[in-house]
Amino acid sequence: MSNILLIFTGGTISMVRNPKTGGLRPADMETFKTFVPELFSSDIHVDMLPFTPFIDSSDVNPDNWSRMARAVYDHYDDYDGFVILHGTDTMSYSGSALSFMLENLNKPVVFTGSQLPVGVLRSDAKENLLTAIEIAAAKDEVGNAIVPEVTIFFEDKLFRANRTTKINSEHFEAFASYNYPSLAKAGVHITYRSHLVHYSDPRIPLKLHESTDCNVAVLKLFPGITQQVVRSILRTKGLRGVVLETFGAGNAPSAKWLYRLLRDAVDRGIIIVNKTQCSTGSVEMGQYEVSLNLLKAGVISGYDITTEALLTKMMYLIGGLDDIQQIKQLIQTPLCGELTVEPLL
Ligand code: ASP
Repeated sequence: MSNILLIFTGGTISMVRNPKTGGLRPADMETFKTFVPELFSSDIHVDMLPFTPFIDSSDVNPDNWSRMARAVYDHYDDYDGFVILHGTDTMSYSGSALSFMLENLNKPVVFTGSQLPVGVLRSDAKENLLTAIEIAAAKDEVGNAIVPEVTIFFEDKLFRANRTTKINSEHFEAFASYNYPSLAKAGVHITYRSHLVHYSDPRIPLKLHESTDCNVAVLKLFPGITQQVVRSILRTKGLRGVVLETFGAGNAPSAKWLYRLLRDAVDRGIIIVNKTQCSTGSVEMGQYEVSLNLLKAGVISGYDITTEALLTKMMYLIGGLDDIQQIKQLIQTPLCGELTVEPLL
């Protein structure tokens, strides 16, 4: 029998409607259990670890990431896999953060949630939850976990968490992984695509990284962006890292002032990473002349990483390391499958 630890943080999946306000608010553990009796009647043993009070994932912050990662770390030897129930709004951030905080992970950590609360008739909650548990418990013929990485299961697909983005606030298919294929698909059977899974070396023990640094920012370029806006972001006190969201293959306006402000920030030790605003595809600085300024200013490429993964990777690296060159080098290196330096053929 497989043992699974179900870590419960909140989100729509756990919510009930407040009859007074009409709004959704987190329920309690006992109410939740009554909606999913199947949890305790399958051949998978499930223990629950509620993080009460349950929260909307808009309130999740790095302390919550650290609590989730620590829960996996502390109970690592007692369970075959972990399922984390979480609101969908920031699930991609949390999943990305945990993929970096749990180095050398060799057991499944599956995030899931739902678009409708568990008690609602057409809810997607039960299906998502029960399939996530089955995936977390899945083993191959020799007893190894089939997907021993941090993933998100939603609707009918399993994705590497640090490749995902929430794309829909309404439909059951709420997540996409534009630059990496899904790791499994759930229909009548669950079909795994093991050749796409990231495996850590099983001889190396799990390492927990809890410290993060929030002195990062996202600077999204747009036609007409002013010097004042760019300057005020880049001159933010204590700033250490910037996700620069650019156009197309990593392009930016060729204005001299932009180059000067970026160069000045890089010279002050701020790490600036180029992330394309396109959902699919990779940054390729130098392909167009309008990206040469960025290269000359010392901006580095984020390749095909998502903003969620890049931001959390920066927070994790800056929180744990001081050497700027080492951080820059690690940002451009895939640590757990979060980016592809060479595009997939
Ligand atoms: N606001 C909710 C949350 O992220 C939405 C959801 O769970 O789907 O917690």
